[in-house]
Amino acid sequence: MKGNTVRELAAKGVDRLRRAGVESPRLDAELLLAKVLDKDRHFLHVNPDYCPDVGVEAEYYALLNRRAAGEPLQYLTGIQEFMGLVFTVNPSVLIPRSDTETLVEEVLDRLKGYRGMGVSETPETPGSGMDGDRVLGLDLGTGSGAIAVSLACYFAGLYVKAVDISPEALRVAQKNAVRHGVADRIDFLRGDLFSPFEGTGQKFDLIVSNPPYISGKEMRELQREVLHEPQSALYGGSDGLCFYKKIVAGAPEFLKRGGLLAVEIGYDQAAAVIDLLNQTGVFKYTEVVKDLAGRCRVVLAAAHN
Ligand code: GLN
Repeated sequence: MKGNTVRELAAKGVDRLRRAGVESPRLDAELLLAKVLDKDRHFLHVNPDYCPDVGVEAEYYALLNRRAAGEPLQYLTGIQEFMGLVFTVNPSVLIPRSDTETLVEEVLDRLKGYRGMGVSETPETPGSGMDGDRVLGLDLGTGSGAIAVSLACYFAGLYVKAVDISPEALRVAQKNAVRHGVADRIDFLRGDLFSPFEGTGQKFDLIVSNPPYISGKEMRELQREVLHEPQSALYGGSDGLCFYKKIVAGAPEFLKRGGLLAVEIGYDQAAAVIDLLNQTGVFKYTEVVKDLAGRCRVVLAAAHN
């Protein structure tokens, strides 16, 4: 008996996922089919009459069932694109979001105009913290490494210390650094925020973070896909601000004078995070940047400690 063609399999998958209420049934079905075939989506369109063997078909149906039950597509395909780069992901890391590209792009803009972080109008010591064109960055809660790796890929002078509390996440991040050829410029360290550097006197030109920032109330309203992501990468305490409090409190000790702190925030957290920064008396310059959807997404602050 002849098996199903790629065209038939795609149609069945679309139908299965649509009935399960998946938002983008065609895209997801095609990506899962391409995954089991070990091809890209383009192959499906060029070879609609190709008949995969039954083992491949069974594997496809198994993935469709998992997707229909709410597992995120990216945990099934094992990848997510971010900043034009393909990242390995698994359920031990948050799936990189396009929102976070706003953070990376803002930081890159400043690094590229880097002279004393390029954020203060007249840095008191221009180029302070500079060591040639070397910039030392710290990524807190690196997860898949999406931020650290893409920054390192697009800014050759950047050296990053990337911290995460989860050893499983660090393994994924390390893989991504190798995949993109920047492993020699990123050190991955297990720890809780600044803990690996406490008492070392180490200071950074840049501290970047996309910390967990979902509040208790929002945690109860998450999309079913998001429930598969690590709670430790999402939950920011009852008010969602727990990690900003710790990061803002610790940053002055670990930032060089004129250094930049850049954090992703939830759309309604800008005022609260700016308040935290102002309370320190150390961050004289703050800025809120909106994402492509027009929501407040990034807070930048320059240290004048
Ligand atoms: N942006 C993510 C979401 O809305 C949350 C990421 C985070 O907590 N840092 O699901």
